[in-house]
Amino acid sequence: MRNPVPDLLDELRRECAGADGGEVLDTIPELADEDPDRFGIALCTIDGTVYGTGDADHRFTIQSISKPFAYALALADRGRDTVLEHVGVEPSGDAFNEISLEQNGRPRNPMINIGAITTHALIGDPRWTLEERDARVLAGLSAFAGRTLELDEAVFESERSEASRNLALAYLVHSQGKLDGEPHDAVDGYTRQCSLLVDVRDLAVMAMTLAAGGRNSVTGEQVVPTWVCTQVLSVMATCGMYDAAGDWMSTVGIPAKSGVSGGVLGSLPGQVGIGAFSPRLDEIGSSVRGVAAFERLSAELGLHLMHAPEVASHVLYGVVEPDADGDELREVQLQGTMHFAAVEVALRQLEALPDGEPLVLDLSRVASATAVGRSLLNEAVERMRADGREVRVTDPDGVLEG
Ligand code: GLU
Repeated sequence: MRNPVPDLLDELRRECAGADGGEVLDTIPELADEDPDRFGIALCTIDGTVYGTGDADHRFTIQSISKPFAYALALADRGRDTVLEHVGVEPSGDAFNEISLEQNGRPRNPMINIGAITTHALIGDPRWTLEERDARVLAGLSAFAGRTLELDEAVFESERSEASRNLALAYLVHSQGKLDGEPHDAVDGYTRQCSLLVDVRDLAVMAMTLAAGGRNSVTGEQVVPTWVCTQVLSVMATCGMYDAAGDWMSTVGIPAKSGVSGGVLGSLPGQVGIGAFSPRLDEIGSSVRGVAAFERLSAELGLHLMHAPEVASHVLYGVVEPDADGDELREVQLQGTMHFAAVEVALRQLEALPDGEPLVLDLSRVASATAVGRSLLNEAVERMRADGREVRVTDPDGVLEG
């Protein structure tokens, strides 16, 4: 069989290529020379399969898409409390380069420049030199991508020569006592971070790493702890798409981040990582074709995070009454994933069983269980046994053992 996914992506790309509104960014001189018609899309799945279409191998600077990954490194290195002392998690509703501070002097979130510069300075150890922090950023983002990324020196120098606004933001945060280190160092490192070269395949793998709880599905490396990804994806969902984050979440419904070079990255927890690139930007600063591609992908592949899955009601595969298959046992057969809502359905079924009757709890069709699902099911088995019921558990995959 020929896999239909590549055809589906090719078709979607062709259809979105007609969107030719918007302008290539002209405030960073080096970026203004990009071919405006370039357009690539890539998708990475949980087992590390990467599909690409169009200019999927074309490299561009990551820009603001580096922000969630730098945030992840800062959280992993310094812990949630320290990072939250310096940078908030509230949507700003402002443009990416606005002076967006809370009353206590904390930048509103790590996805806008003022918060991203502050976040960059939190990566690693506070005593580190600029070079040591740069090395950690390069190694960290490379681990997310599953290959060693390179710096675009020309873009870096070009941005550094135009950095007065970012420097002003850094000095402001410094004056509020919220910047760890020197403003020049923070902006220098942050600009380097933005100048790393990626293609949409890299973005898809990086997004999938966040979506898989920090484990890179291509290399198998656990890049950051799972709690870090939960925090990063939450902030991407509320603050990732510049000042259009609410509109994006309601139409596309995928935690995402865009950058001014034309990249868009989307990360759907547990399912898929997506990268798109096309340099023409809308008035908010996001890629016109990239946004169009995400809208189509979300609608056609059913990727909206808020779309309610029909899982819980199907948890019960069947109940075999005593005698129906020639023995005395009642059998309760569960299926699917045992998360809280699914297990709650099963618990009520078990609660309603006639007293004393022996039971087989059949988990052979259960794919997996969350920690809470596992502990509630184990608790149910213990309680039934404590009530004097004979319970046999069929659990060939050891789902209840974790
Ligand atoms: N390096 C860019 C800046 O700091 C990134 C902006 C963006 O991609 O939103 O201005």
